[in-house]
Amino acid sequence: MSSASESLAPFHTHCPNACARISQEQGRWLIQPEAPTSMAGSNWFTCLVGLDASDVPLDVVVRWLPLRETNVGDYTGNDNFSSVLDRVCFLDHGDGRWQRLSGVRVDGDEAHLQLPPGPQGRRFAIGMPVDARDLHGLLEDGHASPHASVRLLGHATRGSPVWGLTINEGSQAQGTIVVQSLQHAQEWAGLRAHRQLVRFLLSPEGAPLRQRWRWLCYPATNADGLYLGWRGDPMVVDDYNPNRDWGVFSLPEIRAVADDLLSNLQQGPPLAHAVDLHMGWNWRSNPGSAVGVAADDGDLDQCKAWHYAFADALMAQSQLSDFHWQIHRKGRPTFPSWLMSETGLHGQTIEISRHLWPDGKGGQELPSQEREERFGPDLARTLDRFLQQNPYPQT
Ligand SMILES: [Zn+2]
Repeated sequence: MSSASESLAPFHTHCPNACARISQEQGRWLIQPEAPTSMAGSNWFTCLVGLDASDVPLDVVVRWLPLRETNVGDYTGNDNFSSVLDRVCFLDHGDGRWQRLSGVRVDGDEAHLQLPPGPQGRRFAIGMPVDARDLHGLLEDGHASPHASVRLLGHATRGSPVWGLTINEGSQAQGTIVVQSLQHAQEWAGLRAHRQLVRFLLSPEGAPLRQRWRWLCYPATNADGLYLGWRGDPMVVDDYNPNRDWGVFSLPEIRAVADDLLSNLQQGPPLAHAVDLHMGWNWRSNPGSAVGVAADDGDLDQCKAWHYAFADALMAQSQLSDFHWQIHRKGRPTFPSWLMSETGLHGQTIEISRHLWPDGKGGQELPSQEREERFGPDLARTLDRFLQQNPYPQT
């Protein structure tokens, strides 16, 4: 965020690296992204600002950058964020919950919207409705429960804290389930689902699940991206893609999670499954949601059918997606593949949609907070049910 906008009431930024300029133009508030940096994918843009109390509605225009050859990405039709601006504007009314703003009108490379009057403490976000407050809500749920322990695992490259959470009750757990999210900082739906998963596991309804399994939760591995903000290429931190750093360990945040996971597995019930929550792309006509499964090239034959069966169970429970993404192979520096080399179990990547969810009738619908939040408990229920009946295939 430029220094000019930091002092520009009624907007306040939490985030030194958020990439927007805010100014006034003809009685409206104009929000413009700064030039995107290294664009291997698309023109992504995130902005998260706090709002002062306001008695009047604020008219806002988000003006997107003109497309340039240098920042058109590799994915045809996935290179202009302005085309999805009407789906990616969010307001926290001050209660800590993000609600998608309705009535956002896209006009060319601009989006027009109105922020309603309201008290101090609200947040407005474009593209990435998540900040450290959302993680701390999850951690507070853990602190408040006798069935969870919250652990500081270490610090990320720029000093942000990396957290882990263990959820379990009693001593009868038959296996360990690992859930990770926010390796890619702007893939906020993973943390949202994770928070609801934790809340569900700690609720009375979640008691059988936390007794049957030990849950190891890593809600925000890319801690710098969450605490300090994110800009530029959506996939990288200082030129490193966190999900290409497993076993390489250029990033201390990846090392911290890996060490914690392995040391816990040495002590407790064996690994039953691991899922890594991501978020699909910015393509207006394609949901970008998927469940990762073993690729067709044969080197994961052992678990291919099992991967597909879990994906199908999750899709049936949650209607997250209808797409199996054949991305998993042995020997890659990704989280699921690294886990295979360490434990013999190949985890699965889950991509949550930004823009479109299956509507259950063969079509698609716009995302809703309710469906995004329901996905966390649906994921927990699916893991619990599926793993009771389908242990990972041993060779
Ligand atoms: Zn990702």
